[in-house]
Amino acid sequence: MKIKLGSNTAKERKKLIKQCDDLVSLIVRKRDRYCVTCGTKERLTCSHLIKRGRAATRFNLINCNCQCSSCNFRHNSYPEYYTNWFLIRYNTEEFRVLVKQASEPKKWSLLELRELKENLQKQLRDLEENSKDFGEVQYNSRNSENPFEDALQSTNSAKTCYGTAKAVRGL
Ligand SMILES: [Zn+2]
Repeated sequence: MKIKLGSNTAKERKKLIKQCDDLVSLIVRKRDRYCVTCGTKERLTCSHLIKRGRAATRFNLINCNCQCSSCNFRHNSYPEYYTNWFLIRYNTEEFRVLVKQASEPKKWSLLELRELKENLQKQLRDLEENSKDFGEVQYNSRNSENPFEDALQSTNSAKTCYGTAKAVRGL
């Protein structure tokens, strides 16, 4: 029987992408815990500022933020609300870099996806660990790190954004 290596690879790629999407969604909802544009804690989803179809920014934890399903849906037709939030939360320069990153062609290799998955799993564990003692999490200036490291390298971004989410809500 002929073994179709190509199709197995495609299957694994698809599976890894789905697993990474799921991990990003879990991280974002655990990190933000409320809709960034309307503040509700109901029906939370992981919402991509720049569409998920853009591979380069698909798993970027700056591009992904928590929105309720209504705001997420509204973003499809009226992107200005979420974009406005992003510009206030970050700044125009960071938006510019994100847009540039999104426009770059990207094909995630199996190796990259496996590494990304491990990295995201670690970030999720860190986040769960931190949320146990929420009150003691310190918010360190995000400027001390490069916020545009993609999720592959950015082991601290979830932690950093987590602290910032508190700051945004004035806690
Ligand atoms: Zn909302």
